[in-house]
Amino acid sequence: MVKNQEEIRALLIDAKVIQSGHFKLNSGVHSNTYLEKFNLLQWPDLTEIICKDIYELTKDLQPDLIVGPTTGGAIIAYEVARNYRVRSIIAEKAEKGRTIGRDYLIKPGEKVLVVDDILTSGQSIFETMDAVKNANGTVIGIAIIADRSMQPIHFNVPSISLVKITLENYEENECPLCKDNVPLKVT
Ligand SMILES: [Zn+2]
Repeated sequence: MVKNQEEIRALLIDAKVIQSGHFKLNSGVHSNTYLEKFNLLQWPDLTEIICKDIYELTKDLQPDLIVGPTTGGAIIAYEVARNYRVRSIIAEKAEKGRTIGRDYLIKPGEKVLVVDDILTSGQSIFETMDAVKNANGTVIGIAIIADRSMQPIHFNVPSISLVKITLENYEENECPLCKDNVPLKVT
């Protein structure tokens, strides 16, 4: 049975993927929440559980192929593809955007499910969709583990996420956690 959002959230908190506190993010902003996807993806048994749900929620789409962007998306693509008994392919960073490189072949019109770990701006998903199109594949759906985007992102194909994460970001000089002297963790 597919887990509900709260069960997924509890699993991700337990695995320390979702961390609460006071964090300085790469971008320089402060936040009350930090996501460390590799606290999930380093554990094959946990990744298996999560990817089984992605499979269950997308199986009506009947993809021929699963594609994920490096790095986390590649691991997820592999595990989701195992459920489907289809191939998984990696979309790697290129000079501009992403590319389906190596000796990977996508047959014209092959139906592709694009998967990734965390949705923030959607950039890596859009780049992966373009890479699939450039390789003559047809993207038929998007599946994400955790959606932490600040506003809805439209991919123009069916998309699912297992859990929605709402977080607060603050500029350093306006951060209430700094004002309260909550210890800061630099990520
Ligand atoms: Zn702060």
